Amino acid sequence: MKITRQKHAKRNMGFYKYNFGFREPFQVLLDGTFCQAALRNKIQIREQLPGYLGGATQLCTTRCVLKELESLGKELYGAKLIAQRFQVRHCSHFKSPVSGSTCLLSMTEGDNPHHYFTATQDQTLATKIKKRAGIPLLFIIQNTIVLDKPSAASLASVQAMQTNKLIPEHQKESISRLKEEQGLVKPLEAKKRKRKRIAGPNPLSCLKKKKKKGQEATQPTTTKKKVNRKRNKRKPETTAGIVQPGSQNAEA
Ligand SMILES: [Zn+2]
Repeated sequence: MKITRQKHAKRNMGFYKYNFGFREPFQVLLDGTFCQAALRNKIQIREQLPGYLGGATQLCTTRCVLKELESLGKELYGAKLIAQRFQVRHCSHFKSPVSGSTCLLSMTEGDNPHHYFTATQDQTLATKIKKRAGIPLLFIIQNTIVLDKPSAASLASVQAMQTNKLIPEHQKESISRLKEEQGLVKPLEAKKRKRKRIAGPNPLSCLKKKKKKGQEATQPTTTKKKVNRKRNKRKPETTAGIVQPGSQNAEA
């Protein structure tokens, strides 16, 4: 029983890691209902969750969730104590707090950019979360924490990505990074600029030498040294480099 539960969790975690770019430490947003259920079922969230999700886990909540728990008074005092130990993540309701469920829903807006898990016992919130793609849902059932299987919306989103051959955002980033590393994008531009710089100075320095006849004896030696340095640095440029110093020597 326990082994199959762990296996399902591992498979579901793989789904979110591969398709939506989830990685450690896993960010879990918890609400008051989840804390209350954990308290009732004597579940140590902090101890159990990392093992179940298979990696380091960051438990967090929002100011709105804490405010709501405070307002609900004695009955949820224990849940409030649990929630207070979590990291408080910044939400957009600083001036006017909203309900915990509204706040948690807002935290995953726009394709869940911070890769939050949502941990709740609130069925209304869970239904809304499931309608969005890429938000893993955690709840407590029969004294155990359960990671819900990917929602229809998540599956449909992945299906759409595969059929349209769209690349997930996190993969696009790594592709562009790889392209730069392999020299497919920016290095080419840089090389072109450098070539222009090398070709430029030589004709100009030749002109100056012609004007100042008195310094002719000293200057050519210095310019030669500079040219030699450049030649050593860039082997492919040697043919271009040789032609210009050659013409200098002929003039001098
Ligand atoms: Zn809020």
